[in-house]
Amino acid sequence: MMKAENKTKITFPSYSANESFARGAAAAFLARYDPTVPQLADIKTAVSEAVTNCIVHAYPESVGDIAMTIAMYPGRKLRIVIADQGIGIPDVEKAMQPLYTTGNPEERSGLGFAVMQSFMDTVKVTSHPGRGTRVVLNKTLTVRG
Ligand code: ATP
Ligand code: MG
Repeated sequence: MMKAENKTKITFPSYSANESFARGAAAAFLARYDPTVPQLADIKTAVSEAVTNCIVHAYPESVGDIAMTIAMYPGRKLRIVIADQGIGIPDVEKAMQPLYTTGNPEERSGLGFAVMQSFMDTVKVTSHPGRGTRVVLNKTLTVRG
């Protein structure tokens, strides 16, 4: 990967109120790149899903740090990395299958990863049980004007 043209990293505790902060921060970073309305909506939704997973699953009984790195590479290639140091995922492939959830089935539908995958170009997840999870979201923005 080439050097990022622009990059930011924010870290915040896993309070549910910070889900909208993360979504807004991603949108603020992207503003100068003039994304299309649908692309911006897709990216914000994917960020919400990834951050919500950290809040709900990574730190189920506690509050821990969530780090979000947003970087723009040449060619309008956007990369967002959302990382936690929570409980981790024992079987990532299984966790990413649509409808798979370890959460309360009345609240969770097991579609977060499926949503991320449909709204982004690629989604890569690495996880170590007991050490945390890293979700990498990639999307190339449409060239404007
Ligand atoms: P939904 O997103 O539809 O509310 P969900 O969160 O259970 O439901 P996914 O977002 O697809 O569904 O996640 C699937 C499963 O992967 C979760 O139920 C959980 O077991 C695991 N998981 C996802 N993200 C994390 C994380 N950051 N830390 C630990 N486990 C995670
Ligand atoms: Mg989820």
